[in-house]
Amino acid sequence: MGIHDLDFITQRIDELKEQGVYRKLAVLESPSGPRSVINGKSVINLSSNNYLGLANHPRLKKAAMEALEKWGVGAGAVRTIIGNMTIHEELERKLAEFKHVEAVLVFQSGFTANAGVIPAVVDKGDVIISDELNHASIIDGCRLSRADVVRYKHSDMEDLERVIKEVKDKYNTKLIITDGVFSMDGDIAKLPEIVELAEKYGCLTYVDDAHASGVLGRSGRGSADHFDLHGRVDIQIGTLSKAIGVVGGYVAGRRNLIEWLNHRGRPFLFSTAAPPAIAAACLEAINILSESSELTDKLWDNARYLKKGLNDLGFNTGKSETPITPVITGEDRTAIELSKRLFEEGVFAQSIVYPTVPKDGARVRTIVTAAHTKEDLDEALRAFEKVGKELNLIK
Ligand SMILES: *Cc1c(COP(=O)(O)O)cnc(C)c1O
Repeated sequence: MGIHDLDFITQRIDELKEQGVYRKLAVLESPSGPRSVINGKSVINLSSNNYLGLANHPRLKKAAMEALEKWGVGAGAVRTIIGNMTIHEELERKLAEFKHVEAVLVFQSGFTANAGVIPAVVDKGDVIISDELNHASIIDGCRLSRADVVRYKHSDMEDLERVIKEVKDKYNTKLIITDGVFSMDGDIAKLPEIVELAEKYGCLTYVDDAHASGVLGRSGRGSADHFDLHGRVDIQIGTLSKAIGVVGGYVAGRRNLIEWLNHRGRPFLFSTAAPPAIAAACLEAINILSESSELTDKLWDNARYLKKGLNDLGFNTGKSETPITPVITGEDRTAIELSKRLFEEGVFAQSIVYPTVPKDGARVRTIVTAAHTKEDLDEALRAFEKVGKELNLIK
C-alpha cells in the first residue's frame, strides 16, 4: 500500500457500502424520452427532468446544428474576455422578454448561477434566510458568500416570520431564499406569503425556479408569473437544463443586478461561455414556449392524470402539487425494492433514500413529461398496481 493508492478514499467508499448507500449509475442508452433504453432495457422513463420533451425535440436539434455550422463548437473564451457571442446576447434578450424582467444573465448551469449570484449579492454583515429544504447549490452559494445563514422550517410561514424578527435589526441586507418548486416532494413555495413578509420587514426575495422553469406560470414563465408577483421577487434563478431540455442557468431581475453580476458573478467571469449550439437550442426552446402553451398544457394534463391514478390506487404521494409525484414508502429498502421491481415490469422510477430525504421518508420519485402518452401512463400505473400489491404498499 503506497501513498498513491488513495486508501483513505477506498475506506470511505467501503463505509458507503456498509451503510447501503453505495450506488452505480444507471446508463441511458437512447435519447432522453418518454420511453428510453436504460441499462439494456426499453422502459417507460419516469425519472427525467425533461418535463416538456424538449431534450430531443427536432426544432432544438435543428437550431443547434445550424449554430454549430455557423459558430463552431466552442465560444473560445469566458464571456468577459471575448466569449460573448451574438447568440448569447440574443438568448438573454429573449429570456428577459419571456420572464417580463429588465434583464437576464445566463450562466453555465443552474448550479453555477446559485454559486455565483448569492455571493455577489450578500456579504459580511448581511444575512440569508433560507428554507431548510433548499437545493444543494443554494447551500453552496450561501457558504461561498460571507453572510450569516439562518434557516426556517420548510414552507412554515410562522417560523419564517419568527426568524425574520430575530435577525431584522442585526444585519444590513436580508435575503430570503427559497426553491420555487421543491424537488423531492413536488410542493410549491408559498411565494405570495414570503413576498408579503419580505415587504413587511424590508427583506429581499430570491427564488430558485429550477423545477418551475418551463413548468409553472403561463407557458412555464415560472413561479413569480404563476402567483402574479411580477416586480416583487427581486432575484429569479432559472435553469435551462430541466424543462428547457438543454443545459445552463440564468438569473432574471433588475438591470443593475445584471450589470453587477457582469463584474462580480464569479462563474460568469472565470468559466468559459456555453457553446453557441447550446445557446441556440435554448433560444429555440423559449421561442416554442413563447408561441403557445401546448407543451405546458400537455405536461399538466399528464401530471394530473398520473397523480390521480397513483392516488386512486392508494399510494401515498405526499403533498405534491406539480409534475413531481413521489410515491412514499417510508423504509429505504422498500423504496429500493419498489424501484427495482418496477424496472423489471418496464418502468424506470428512481428510488430516493436517506439522507437525500428524511429517515422514514424514502420514496420512488416520478416525474411525468409532456411527451408521455396516456398509454404510457396507463402502462406505468398497471406496473405500480402490480408491484404495490406485491410489496403490500396498497391493497
Ligand atoms: C437542478 C437544480 C439546480 C441545478 O440546475 P442545473 O442547471 O442542472 O445545474 C439548481 N437548483 C435547483 C433547485 C435544482 O433543482
